[in-house]
Amino acid sequence: MIVERTIKLKLELSDESKETLRQTMVLSNRIFNEIARYGFDNHTCSKVSVHHATYYGIREQHPELPCSILQGIRDVACEALKGLELKTLPRSKPFSAIRYNKRVHKINLIKQNVSLSSVKGRVTATFSIPEYYKQYLEWEFKTSTLRYNKQQNVFYLHVVIHKPSPEPVGNKVLGIDRGIVNIAVTSNNHFFNSKPIKNVRAKYAFLRAKLQSKGTKSAKKLLRKISRKEQRFVSKVNHCISKEIVAMPFDIFAIEDLTSIRVQSRTRGIDFTQKLNNWAFYELEQFIRYKAEAVGKSVVTIDPRYTSQKCSVCGHIYKGNRKGNSFHCVKCGFQIHADLNAARNIAVLGISGNGRLSVTQPYIACDEVEARKGIDTEHSDNAAHFIVRS
Ligand SMILES: [Zn+2]
Repeated sequence: MIVERTIKLKLELSDESKETLRQTMVLSNRIFNEIARYGFDNHTCSKVSVHHATYYGIREQHPELPCSILQGIRDVACEALKGLELKTLPRSKPFSAIRYNKRVHKINLIKQNVSLSSVKGRVTATFSIPEYYKQYLEWEFKTSTLRYNKQQNVFYLHVVIHKPSPEPVGNKVLGIDRGIVNIAVTSNNHFFNSKPIKNVRAKYAFLRAKLQSKGTKSAKKLLRKISRKEQRFVSKVNHCISKEIVAMPFDIFAIEDLTSIRVQSRTRGIDFTQKLNNWAFYELEQFIRYKAEAVGKSVVTIDPRYTSQKCSVCGHIYKGNRKGNSFHCVKCGFQIHADLNAARNIAVLGISGNGRLSVTQPYIACDEVEARKGIDTEHSDNAAHFIVRS
């Protein structure tokens, strides 16, 4: 299996180079629209036929555009047409991101510079690599996307790099139970609970209620802003927890299939908190997958039915076994924290493979949390100090 990551670099460019790249972008996107229009009108997304029909005309009209950039645009346009099944015409805005394949740019992560083809020859830029990205210096480099932030007048290069993932080593399974009070409880007796999270979320809940009652336009805008802030905070916590879990001496992480996770059935209707919870559970899973695959570990999902009602010692299933946080088996008398009982059941299902569900491996293009490191520091102290009890 191949592990892929995207690193985001902020380019340092002279004003002249910026102008050149802006022109390159505008022209590239105009040509993208032209090529897409041809494919759409002629009902084809074949790179060969689109190439024959459009290439020479465009070369003649725009000799300043390097031919490998043009080929890249054609490929992207054909892929876009294919993606939309030729039913919709794909359109680019003047400053939409453009793809740079291997042939049209040369990047040196160690010397921290890049040269990009443009309408006026090569443009060189420098960048600084954040500390966190330094682990990727040895990875093979695949393709890049050039993005432009018009408001800030800043160019970013999103560089996709890859390497083969390490061979899986063992088969020790760790069960992970996700919940609201305890964000995660693992079958080796670790509780990831979070008082800071509760405090922060209570603060946001209060703010939200206040703003919702106002109902003005600016209140709604502010509401969206704090929602994003809250999500960023939750992401940070998820990042810390997943990092710690993946570092544990286990090879396979068993987790409940999210689509039927218990919380959904417990509450009626979906409010914001509910949505955030579902999203947070999903994100934690993605982070664990993402970090696990990089070190040759894996994640399996299991059928969540009865994981909270079943006794992890004798296997007796009874609804009344669980009361709130405590689990008390009516058959064998075993007593344990309810979430830990569930985590152990999840581990057993992960080991036996019986409860495993087949899923397609998700793909995350960019570890946004890590990319945001250093930008969003407001709650970082809180996020780093979630409580670990064992
Ligand atoms: Zn029992």
